[in-house]
Amino acid sequence: MILIHYGEIGIKGKNRAVFENCLVRNIKKALGNEIEKIYREYGRILVKEGERANYEMLKEKLAKIPGIENFSFAYEVDLDIEEMKKIAMEIAKNEKFSTFKISARRSNKEFPYSSMQINEIVGEEIKEKLNKKVKLENPELTIFIEVGNKKAYVYKEKYSGIGGLPVGSQGKVVALLSGGIDSPVAAWLMIKRGCSVVFIHFYNESLVSSPKKVEEIIEKLTEYQLSSKAYFIPFGTLQYEIIKNVQSKYRMIIYRRVMTKIANEIASMEKAKAVVTGDSIGQVASQTLENIHCIYDASDLPVLSPLIGMDKREIIDMAKKIGTYEISIKPYDDCCSFMVAKHPATKASLDKIKEMEKKIIFGIEEIIEKARTKQYSK
Ligand code: ATP
Ligand code: MG
Repeated sequence: MILIHYGEIGIKGKNRAVFENCLVRNIKKALGNEIEKIYREYGRILVKEGERANYEMLKEKLAKIPGIENFSFAYEVDLDIEEMKKIAMEIAKNEKFSTFKISARRSNKEFPYSSMQINEIVGEEIKEKLNKKVKLENPELTIFIEVGNKKAYVYKEKYSGIGGLPVGSQGKVVALLSGGIDSPVAAWLMIKRGCSVVFIHFYNESLVSSPKKVEEIIEKLTEYQLSSKAYFIPFGTLQYEIIKNVQSKYRMIIYRRVMTKIANEIASMEKAKAVVTGDSIGQVASQTLENIHCIYDASDLPVLSPLIGMDKREIIDMAKKIGTYEISIKPYDDCCSFMVAKHPATKASLDKIKEMEKKIIFGIEEIIEKARTKQYSK
């Protein structure tokens, strides 16, 4: 039996059922044939694994589903203290330890023993029969007992999930995804917070034959999101248009404004409610507060930048943890080198930018028409 605990969705009042159903749907989708039955009980989700379950694989998949706080592989027993004793003993016999504790939780108040009494009764058994010592703080072994409505669950280990909220419970956003380190982490944080993320990637089709690396990043993020949609937008012509018409130090700002406008249009097609970027204050020239002001001004929708207060070191650590870092550091020329100025403006003025931008003629619909879309699923 797999016992799944969720964190924040436990406290959402009336919406609770909606959140829980969303999480149940996502678990089903992620585990597919691995499971026989799934149902929810107050405060937990219970999954009956298939007979030939691969526990390593289950562990890996569950550890990637947003909304799961922790999970355990548990023995299911009848609501009988003798049964609990028996299974706890069996678990303990197979472990090497000298100190232990029992940690019982009773959500079913009909059960005649309190949590404290369960701890004492089961603890006494192990202490006497195996000659071990009870230690309440930092014991070498903890055996958990949860008393549910119809059954009780006994287990020894809690595996951490990523927390957050179930994907699909918070609406849709579009994320501007480059081939870099930062934007995949930004998109991941939005997925973790329960948003459905549609990816948008711009590339120079005369430099990049196919944005393979970005596809790989999306595949990795789809392990968390479970299904994804992406727009790949050839952008070479427009890059050259910007190079032709704009002084080098302002090119990046105008380039990003144009990307932002197109992202807004795609968001409206997708009914998404925000644009996500991987910006972090001051990290590169286009991310000074003045330039962020100039860039985000091009968006009607809110621009969300979940990395805004993070250091590069912290972003890299997170990228490694989620598995995008190794893909992001592969070489990739998505952007013409003329776009990147030697001395970019760090304090652009919005009026000046808007004036220069008038020279750039482009049709948003036309550009979107050239986009290739792709669906991913886990
Ligand atoms: P990243 O590591 O995400 O590329 P960065 O620190 O290198 O970020 P920039 O390259 O200036 O900074 O990009 C800032 C943000 O603009 C990115 O995080 C991303 O959201 C968006 N962006 C940049 N280039 C592209 C692109 N080719 N396609 C889509 N979005 C992009
Ligand atoms: Mg970049």
